[in-house]
Amino acid sequence: MTMLIDSLRAALGVTHVLTETVDTAPYLTDWRGRYTGTALAIVRPGTTAEVAEVVRLCAQAGVAMVPQGGNTGLCGGGIPCGGEVVVSLTRLNRVRAIDVANNTITVEAGCTLVAVQEAAASADRLFPLSLAAEGTATIGGNLATNAGGVQVLRYGNARELTLGLEVVLPDGRIWNGLRGLRKDNTGYDMKHLFIGAEGTLGLITAAVLKLYSRPRCTATAWAGVSKPAAAVALLTRLRERIGGRITAFELVSRPALDLVLRHIPDSRDPLPGQSPWQVLIELSDTMASDLAGALGDLLADAVAAGEASDAVIAQSEAQTQALWALRENISEAQRIEGISIKHDISLPVSRIAEFIARSDAALAAAFPGVRIVCFGHVGDGNLHYNQSKPAAQDNAAFIGQTAAVNRIVHDLVAELGGSISAEHGLGQLKRQEILRYKSETEMDMMRAVKQALDPRGLMNPGKVL
Ligand SMILES: Cc1cc2nc3c(=O)[nH]c(=O)nc-3n(C[C@H](O)[C@H](O)[C@H](O)COP(=O)(O)OP(=O)(O)OC[C@H]3O[C@@H](n4cnc5c(N)ncnc54)[C@H](O)[C@@H]3O)c2cc1C
Repeated sequence: MTMLIDSLRAALGVTHVLTETVDTAPYLTDWRGRYTGTALAIVRPGTTAEVAEVVRLCAQAGVAMVPQGGNTGLCGGGIPCGGEVVVSLTRLNRVRAIDVANNTITVEAGCTLVAVQEAAASADRLFPLSLAAEGTATIGGNLATNAGGVQVLRYGNARELTLGLEVVLPDGRIWNGLRGLRKDNTGYDMKHLFIGAEGTLGLITAAVLKLYSRPRCTATAWAGVSKPAAAVALLTRLRERIGGRITAFELVSRPALDLVLRHIPDSRDPLPGQSPWQVLIELSDTMASDLAGALGDLLADAVAAGEASDAVIAQSEAQTQALWALRENISEAQRIEGISIKHDISLPVSRIAEFIARSDAALAAAFPGVRIVCFGHVGDGNLHYNQSKPAAQDNAAFIGQTAAVNRIVHDLVAELGGSISAEHGLGQLKRQEILRYKSETEMDMMRAVKQALDPRGLMNPGKVL
């Protein structure tokens, strides 16, 4: 293996091949601190050609590779299982082109999501993917996990925002699929194999992404609702009356809000009355219009119909940001609170209320005192349905119950036609669990694709499959 390290150093320069513990540690533990791995080295190529050279050298030596972007993934997909070379893409961080007439941007995989949003804004365009980790998460990671976030309801997830890809294949060849076309029916659409593959089929080095007109006005509201069914009724009302202008519709349970109020400085409950559930609503329009007025009228109707108990509309940018901070800080607050069992699930929106009611009851019966922290992008059917330990229980005992908790939650998700991973992927975390819910036929198709592109199993082993 010394020979491989020497070759990698010759290809990239000594400063971009890290082997000392003090240098490698940040790449070897995930954001939640749940997975820690070991690696032969961390390499930091700066161009697509260098990525291809790294892959060729590793393939020659028979050493597996783990692609890594911002290391904000929540399923352990970017953490090596033991002895691989971690390929960090963060030095591939150039915006290659913006085509305003075509409404596209071509970026390298290591650009942070924020950098892409800012580059789009500099051309008076919107790149709508948005999530709490956007300052650190990279476009490569976003595409490899098919990230969702808070605006999927209107603009779709990472897959729907992607027109073309550049990928280094497991044998070191470069596939240039950087086409900025909205229509291209020339056979299998290969980019979709790599989106959501969590780095198991190849290394994404660049992408052509869709841009949109920037909203000229937005309106943001926080409304109290008595139960999830009322939130869904309110969403249905908004859809009927204001349709495509809804950019976000987020559900926040009281326990989730309370964690933010407890742990995040300067947080304040926007409403009196301790509502058991709340929704964060954002509307936007590319034409100047009185959206806040329209939202106020809609919410007044919702209160009259018993769907909402109370509501407040942000009157300034600062108030808008304060409302969003309550939603965006839930994961961080839950991390500060302590260990939790997390579920990133999706359901048909019409089944969400039934899921929460039945799952809450089943978990309370099986695990007395368990605290359910539920929030999510309810507008697109995605819930983060997490469990924090009962106050009296210790961490190890609580985490020891993960499989039993998962069984209750995931079996019900499957029964109601949902998915056990809405936007975070499978990684290491759910690769065994998925076997219970996908048919043997579907798993065989996935294995066949893996075998076709990576017959030696060198690309991110121990993840997904
Ligand atoms: C506070 C917080 C909030 C979050 N909110 C959301 C949310 O709302 N929605 C959401 O979808 N996710 C969310 N996430 C999860 C995470 O941010 C996303 O999964 C993100 O897309 C990961 O990007 P990354 O660059 O950090 O990828 P990494 O964590 O580095 O890697 C993730 C996976 O992608 C692979 N990968 C990375 N780069 C490449 C590449 N160039 N080519 C091939 N494979 C690659 C890795 O091998 C790994 O399997 C959140 C995370 C945090 C910490």
